[in-house]
Amino acid sequence: MTISQQISIAAKHIKEGNLVAFPTETVYGLGADALNPYAVAKLFELKERPTFDPLIVHIASVEEIKRLTVNNDNRVYELAERFWPGPLTIILPKSNLVPDIVTAGLPTVGIRMPDHPVAIELIRQSGCPIAAPSANKFGQLSPTQAKHVNKQLSDVDFLIDGGESAVGIESTIISLNEKGFEILRHGIITKEEIEEIIPYYAVPDRDKTNIVSPGMLKSHYSPNKPIYLLDKNIPDFIDYPKAGLLSFSGKDTAKYKIVELLAPDGNLKTCAVNLFAAIHRLEESDVDYIIAETVPEVGVGIAIMDKLKKAAYRYK
Ligand code: AMP
Ligand code: MG
Repeated sequence: MTISQQISIAAKHIKEGNLVAFPTETVYGLGADALNPYAVAKLFELKERPTFDPLIVHIASVEEIKRLTVNNDNRVYELAERFWPGPLTIILPKSNLVPDIVTAGLPTVGIRMPDHPVAIELIRQSGCPIAAPSANKFGQLSPTQAKHVNKQLSDVDFLIDGGESAVGIESTIISLNEKGFEILRHGIITKEEIEEIIPYYAVPDRDKTNIVSPGMLKSHYSPNKPIYLLDKNIPDFIDYPKAGLLSFSGKDTAKYKIVELLAPDGNLKTCAVNLFAAIHRLEESDVDYIIAETVPEVGVGIAIMDKLKKAAYRYK
């Protein structure tokens, strides 16, 4: 089936309130009509996602902001101009059109315009914004290829195979306040890049016990094999010839069974792009555990380390 045939079948499914897995530039999404609370409820169920965890709404035209939000904040359009389509999600006060289930009861909604022709065409043909989390079971590894989706969500109504996701990690999520923006989840778009448009300003005294963004959960993105961080939490019992290494530097690789070199060009962005796909390969290989080299926590390195720490959290 051609990709355009797949998109038109998928759009029919979305219109009928069914679920479609589709490619975006970040990771594969599991999509439902964002304005249909029944479809969205099915989505939470299939993904086994707790309903306290809000979904990102994907749009194909900036104009949609007017319908979905109550917001006259011009900064949104400046950000959209610079970063959309692209991996930046902006949290805005929601309009009544957005069902509460989408936002997990929050008065705000996260919106982004994906930079992927298949995703954009799907949204256009469906005639509605599409709510979509990553197309994996809750808490597990995000899919960057159609076959990864099949591993976890084989019973989705329709899956569009659009090749490999180019960015490979989830969007950067920001919220706006009176003085600037705050980062709720780190991603490939860095704080420094956003600061070129609006200032960074973290609201003091926020009650940190409240989960503002479930992307802040301590354990997430967990592969189905134990994962340990080099120089941080490697247990004594590790038998290196049975381990797979996620290598950034390419150094000290000889003792491992399999080595995934994440950034042959030494670039952190390349590392982010390859991260989840490499972990998927190690999951499928016969190594007993995964060992990840840590990367410098600057720029995109912040997002990479955030994912690695969450993946390794339960093996502390
Ligand atoms: P994903 O599973 O990649 O789709 O992640 C969606 C994430 O976006 C959620 O887990 C939250 O962290 C964040 N998010 C979505 N909507 C909101 C919102 N209204 N307020 C704060 N965070 C949000
Ligand atoms: Mg996810």
